[in-house]
Amino acid sequence: MVKPPAKKPEHAPITGFPVRDGALTLGGIKIGQLAARVGSTPFYAYDRALISARIAALRQYLPARLKLHYAIKANPMPAVVQHLSRIVDGLDLASAGEMAVALDSGMDPARISFAGPGKTTAELSQAIAAGVVINMESGAEMENIARIAEKQGIQARVAIRVNPDFELKSSGMKMGGGPQQFGVDAEQVPEMLRRLGKSGLDFIGFHIFSGSQNLSEQSLLDTQEKTLDLALSLAESAPTPPKKVNIGGGFGIPYFPGDRPLDLKILGAGLAKILKKFDQRLPETEVILELGRYMVGEAGIYVTRIIDKKISRGQIYLVTDGGMHHHLALSGNFGQLIRKNYPLAIANRMDSPDREQVNIVGCLCTPLDRLGDKMMVPVAEIGDLVVVFQSGAYGLTSSPTAFLGHPAPGEVLV
Ligand SMILES: *Cc1c(COP(=O)(O)O)cnc(C)c1O
Repeated sequence: MVKPPAKKPEHAPITGFPVRDGALTLGGIKIGQLAARVGSTPFYAYDRALISARIAALRQYLPARLKLHYAIKANPMPAVVQHLSRIVDGLDLASAGEMAVALDSGMDPARISFAGPGKTTAELSQAIAAGVVINMESGAEMENIARIAEKQGIQARVAIRVNPDFELKSSGMKMGGGPQQFGVDAEQVPEMLRRLGKSGLDFIGFHIFSGSQNLSEQSLLDTQEKTLDLALSLAESAPTPPKKVNIGGGFGIPYFPGDRPLDLKILGAGLAKILKKFDQRLPETEVILELGRYMVGEAGIYVTRIIDKKISRGQIYLVTDGGMHHHLALSGNFGQLIRKNYPLAIANRMDSPDREQVNIVGCLCTPLDRLGDKMMVPVAEIGDLVVVFQSGAYGLTSSPTAFLGHPAPGEVLV
């Protein structure tokens, strides 16, 4: 039997940015007009309606018991955090800088949690004074918190970040299981809870985060089931029942050819089933899902302009004014093993029928600075706008903006 030729994997369809008169739109504004409004390229643009729609979808499909927290590191732009602060149940952060953005948003400090290894005494002191929940990453950190809290005369709110004894399978980035710089190994937690009981600290609960960028419903559900079981078993050693259990998230978005979006219906139904045991044993405990990328990643684009078009030994190069200094992940250098193309478009020629294969590169003097390798796109000219999709998370602030000394890109929330 002859096998049919394998179909080349394609990017998942991008649906959030309708085309009008051949131009991509964001928030109803045509891309050329948006570029004029921002004043210069390159820039990032985020669509607040798409962010809101994503939160609404999560609320529609996931069990009502689950509280939704936004993990600020995915996109800390103050206007984005402000927008999200009105539609999510809490904010999770990992530095004093992010804490300032979170507190400025008006979110109740009791609904803000601060995780991350290596918190300094200065950061802990600010967090205690602010009244945010500190997710403790070690025994030494707990002792430091107890000392600072006593000095301030404040009862600090603390949770234990647990490094589970399992990992999130098929995940883009693993952050739990095995030896880790994150959290307290699950087997050490009962002893830490005994010390916590005598420390005068306000025990809030547990934080168990296993990994990021996962597109498998089954592996996410398997992990959440183990996470909830672990929280139940650790709760038996706790001085008081946990008020909150943060079960992480790790929901991914489709970036590369062949990636498919998560099915929220499957995840919601699965989570409802998994939560039953928890509902019986700890009905009063708040269960929190913390998501970064999934809330904002698909709502953002990175916009660059073509500065030069040249042919080298038969291949066309479109040289843009953007690059890896603004968008490291796009270049394939932010945790990816093999470079693959993000979905992108010549955003002012969306209806153009004439296509050609091109290499799209940035303006940095390094071969690492690639936006798209051998992609079929409408025939483009100098001055056209190249838009990179799936750029709302881990974009600007995850990139080496000082590399080569170009100006930082603009950022706009529409
Ligand atoms: C990075 C991080 C997140 C967000 O991960 P996403 O993949 O963006 O959803 C959540 N929690 C913790 C503790 C993190 O470090």
